[in-house]
Amino acid sequence: TKYIVVSGGVISGIGKGVIASSTGLLLKMTGLKVTAIKIDPYMNIDAGTMKPTEHGEVYVLNDGGEVDLDLGNYERYLDVTLSRENNITTGKIYSEVIQRERRGDYLGKTVQIVPHVTTAIQDWIERVAHIPVDDTDETPDVCIVELGGTVGDIESAPFIEAMRQFQFRVGHENFALIHVSLVPDMHGEQKTKPTQATVRDLRGLGLMPDLVACRLMSSRPLEDATKAKISMFCHVGKDQVLGVHDVSSVYHVPMLLAQQGLVPYLQKRLDLQSITIPPKMV
Ligand code: ADP
Repeated sequence: TKYIVVSGGVISGIGKGVIASSTGLLLKMTGLKVTAIKIDPYMNIDAGTMKPTEHGEVYVLNDGGEVDLDLGNYERYLDVTLSRENNITTGKIYSEVIQRERRGDYLGKTVQIVPHVTTAIQDWIERVAHIPVDDTDETPDVCIVELGGTVGDIESAPFIEAMRQFQFRVGHENFALIHVSLVPDMHGEQKTKPTQATVRDLRGLGLMPDLVACRLMSSRPLEDATKAKISMFCHVGKDQVLGVHDVSSVYHVPMLLAQQGLVPYLQKRLDLQSITIPPKMV
């Protein structure tokens, strides 16, 4: 299984979920089987007990799991059926680790965030990524892992550390990272400083972005000069910088990413062609 982690920087609600779902959809169109996991770094076990006015409507899965709205995006974009296990929360992970501690699984050891919580996160992701999500009952080829919150938060720290370890557990050729950042448009000037800062934070935590998706909260596309600047200051190639401006429908985002070469980049980076011969190039 190949893993594509989607993290976010600067602010929440920048369209990470839409970019993650769109990436999954584009890969599915090349003939790959795609599943998705959403990580919500809060202590609630699930979204069922949270105010819909703050977090949006609770999305109910076939198994009755009450989860974040993003899981609905994944089911619709990818035409899959997910379970409550596809939504990981801090609450679920801690609850599992504490139950295991009471059972005596760690007998004699001091139970710690690193390595016990971070290992529990990695085990969960690996286990759920292999569960079939469509009626073919085949193991998915690709798992999109969307990490909620923003890099640098106390809340998401154990998950970021788990992902740092995970890239070595599964190997470089099986792990890619898309970091979604904000590019503010100040009266026509596209600012790169917040992106430079968040990519630096990410690197400081041991994660290197393969793609930097720059969200512009305006209808003006990312300029070539801005792309060049981000490439230079964030230590990525120009082909690794993607612009995602406001579009009239979120269902246009896959096309926007495809036009910028997302699919061939990931195919090469993760050696996806060795899994399937694409029936149709996107
Ligand atoms: P996050 O996962 O970062 O919290 P979402 O993917 O849920 O963000 O998106 C937040 C909101 O922004 C949603 O209402 C979504 O419809 C809207 N949105 C995301 N990307 C775009 C885009 N490119 N153009 C217009 N609206 C967008």
